[in-house]
Parts: sequence; C-alpha cells; structure tokens
Amino acid sequence: MKKRILILGGGFGGLYTALELDRTLAKRDDIEVTLVNRENFILFTPMLHEVAASDIDLTHIVNPIRKMLRRVSFLHAEVECIDLASKSVKVVHSESRHPHDLGYDYLVIALGCTTNFFHLPGLEETAFTMKSLGDAIRLRNHLIDGLEAADFECAAGDRDQLLTVVVAGGGFSGVETIAGINDFLREASRNYSHLSEMQIRVVLVHPGPVILPELGEALGRYTATKLAERGVEIRVNTRVTAVREGRVELSDGTIIPSNTLIWTAGTAAHALCGGLPCPTDRGRIQVNGFMEVEGWPGVYSLGDCATVPDPETGKPYPPTAQHAIRQGKVLAGNIAAAIDSGIDGGGSKIPFRFKTMGQLAAIGRRVGVANILGLQFSGFIAWFLWRTIYLMKLPRLEKKVRVAIDWTLDLFFSKDIVQFQTERSSTMNERERK
Ligand SMILES: Cc1cc2nc3c(=O)[nH]c(=O)nc-3n(C[C@H](O)[C@H](O)[C@H](O)COP(=O)(O)OP(=O)(O)OC[C@H]3O[C@@H](n4cnc5c(N)ncnc54)[C@H](O)[C@@H]3O)c2cc1C
Repeated sequence: MKKRILILGGGFGGLYTALELDRTLAKRDDIEVTLVNRENFILFTPMLHEVAASDIDLTHIVNPIRKMLRRVSFLHAEVECIDLASKSVKVVHSESRHPHDLGYDYLVIALGCTTNFFHLPGLEETAFTMKSLGDAIRLRNHLIDGLEAADFECAAGDRDQLLTVVVAGGGFSGVETIAGINDFLREASRNYSHLSEMQIRVVLVHPGPVILPELGEALGRYTATKLAERGVEIRVNTRVTAVREGRVELSDGTIIPSNTLIWTAGTAAHALCGGLPCPTDRGRIQVNGFMEVEGWPGVYSLGDCATVPDPETGKPYPPTAQHAIRQGKVLAGNIAAAIDSGIDGGGSKIPFRFKTMGQLAAIGRRVGVANILGLQFSGFIAWFLWRTIYLMKLPRLEKKVRVAIDWTLDLFFSKDIVQFQTERSSTMNERERK
C-alpha cells in the first residue's frame, strides 16, 4: 500500500510543500502525493495590483501548477468537506461539480483566507476585493466602464460617482492598489475627450494614524506625501461604515459619491478550517512549531489558514507569502521525517523558524518604500528593489521574461484600456429574439 499525502490548496503554502515533495518523497514508489486546488494556476499576489492597473498582462503573474510539478499529481477541484475522523476529503470538479472522496494518510491544509466585510451594510454585495486574478480583472473592467460611461455628455451629472474610487485599508494591498489605479485612471482619462484628469478622485481611507504601519512611521508618512502629490486624498483615523446607492459612508460622517469601493481592510479565516474538530484560533487552525495539528496525527497546516507559533515571541507568524513559502519547505521535510519514523514523526523533524527579511511596496510610477534587514529605502531605489526582488521571486523563467518585457514596453507606450470581455458573441437566434 502506498502512503498517500494529500495537499489542499495550491497557493504559496500548499504549492511550495508540493514542490519540495516533488524533489524528495514523490520520487519513491511507495509514496503518492496529490495537490488539490480550485484554480489550475498559482497567482503571484505581490504583482496583482499591476494587473488591475494595466501595467502587466493578466496571464503573466500566474503559473500553471501542472507545469511546475513532475511527480506530484494535480487535481483541479474544489474542496467541499474535510472529515478528519474518517481521513477523507470530499472534492467536487468540472462543470457538473460531481463529487469524489479522497482518502489520505497525511493531510496538509493550506487553503488560505477569505475577505471579511465585518457585516458592514452594502459591502458584501458591492465592494471590490483584491485577492484573486478575477478580482483584478473585474476591477480593471469596472474602472474602464466608469471612464467610458462618464465620457458621454448625458453622464455629466453622474461623473462624480463614476470617476471616484475609494480604497478602504492603508496596508500593503490597499496602498499598492490605490497607487496603481490612481496612475492608471489619470493616464487613461487622456483618451476620453469629455474627461480631464482633474475629474478623477481617488480616496484612501485608513483606520490608523499612519498608512503602511508595517513599515514604520517615517516610511508611512513618506508614502502619504508621495500619494498626495499624485492626487490621492488620504483620510486617516477613519473607517468605511457603509455603502448605499452609489455613496460610500465614512465614520466621520463624510459621504463620498462613488460607485467603486475597493475593500482591503479585513481578512477572515477560511470557512472550511473554522469548522474542523481541532484547535482553532478565530477560525485559523492552531498548529505547533512543526506545523502539526495536535490531537490529529498526520494532519498539518500552514500559511494564512494556520497559526504557526514564532518560538521567540510565542505569537503566530504574520500571514505573508514569504512565510508560507518557507513553511512549505520545512513541512515537506517534517512529513518525510514522520513517514520514516512512524506517523508521530521522529527526531529529524524540525520546527519552523524564520526572521522576516524585509517588506517592500510599490507606491506609483517609479517610487517605492522598503525596509530590508532593518535598512529603510524610499523613492526610485526602493521601487527598483521592489521590481528586482519580486521579478526574481516570480516562479518560472518564462513568466519572468514576459513580465520584464511588459515593464520595458511600459517605458515606451501608454497603458492599455481594452476590457477583457468573457461573454459569448451574439448569435443569429439571439438577434431574432430581440
Ligand atoms: C493583493 C495581495 C498582495 C500581497 N502581497 C504580498 C507581498 O508583497 N509579500 C508577501 O509576502 N505576501 C503578500 N501577500 C500575502 C500572501 O499572498 C499570502 O500570505 C499567501 O498567499 C498565503 O499563502 P497560502 O498558501 O496560505 O494561501 P493562498 O496563497 O491564498 O492559497 C490558498 C489556495 O487555496 C485555494 N483554495 C481555497 N479554498 C479552496 C477550496 N475550497 N478548494 C480548493 N482550493 C481552495 C485557493 O484558490 C488558493 O490557491 C499579498 C496578498 C494579497 C491578497
């Protein structure tokens, strides 16, 4: 009987566990490794805002999982239910969404997290999110729709709503998104004869006193100054409280007419994890330093859906890609140790230890901020570091080359404003029906 290792989720945590196992355990005839993911690709989230802002082509920041794995089997399916007691996972796949039950001896749960709207009125139905490739495409299409609609003379009375974008959340995702789409909207508006850059309004709403708190006060203030110079309105110590009929309501009583709220201000644990009969912390799976789920031998979790304790502070490591990638590599070794010395693991398993190397953010055309190994950078050099480091980290040479070409072309050509349409072209019968 082969030992079956089942990995749920093909993001940074799950895929990097699979990649390490592909090099090691999966070579053995007595081991079978399977990875299940809802998409057939891995999304490189640090560059997601560049897709929304039309800086790079949408397929260039995703990599097909099948092309990255040689020995690990891949199933393009959605996990519906995890039954730890009977060691089985129910997945559904294809258009018919028919089910399969997958058994396992070792289970890795790496399902990431979801967006949390905190039950604020109107948000669930109308706010844009920035987590998936679909989110970035949807947002970009919507921004272009707004410009197209506002260019009609009959839209003169609605232009405030159509041309105002509010981003909630001044963390990395919110700041990089607002910086990118601010540049995009201002540049794109030049293609519309009835519009001017002056009509574009872009507002960042942040609950704390300084944006980008992860990078410290000095870089946060520098970022705020740079964004303001480029026309972004920043409202600190303020929260979005509701969205109603084309108006975004703020905690200080301000009402902003806008059809576009981008919500980057909250994450929640994955729904499947919170319901498991194992220790959880606000829905995230609690694991020990080896990423084992205590009480459930052979079950592991990592990345955004788990709380992996930092042995120095006792607190969970932050939910970032740089942690998930490294956790994946250590976890693959720990599973090998467990297989070689019985299911509880042997002496050769090692705890996860990692010090954040640094954090970087791109904050608009050729400007960035970075804190690397305690050294702070800002301006062009930080932006150059951002591009160089993330280009190196983007998986697969093919995609690195494609992104490098996109960035080079970006120096010579203005941003593209074509929409990505996915509807079927109209048919003869449809025309007759009309
Ligand atoms: C816009 C943005 C920018 C970011 N920038 C950075 C950055 O610059 N640096 C950094 O270190 N971190 C960054 N992060 C954070 C980083 O992306 C996450 O910490 C990282 O992706 C966590 O990895 P994970 O494997 O735990 O989860 P994910 O990467 O989210 O992977 C989870 C996977 O599980 C799949 N999945 C979920 N549910 C199911 C299901 N029911 N069935 C099948 N599959 C399922 C998902 O489709 C996904 O592929 C960013 C995040 C975002 C959203």
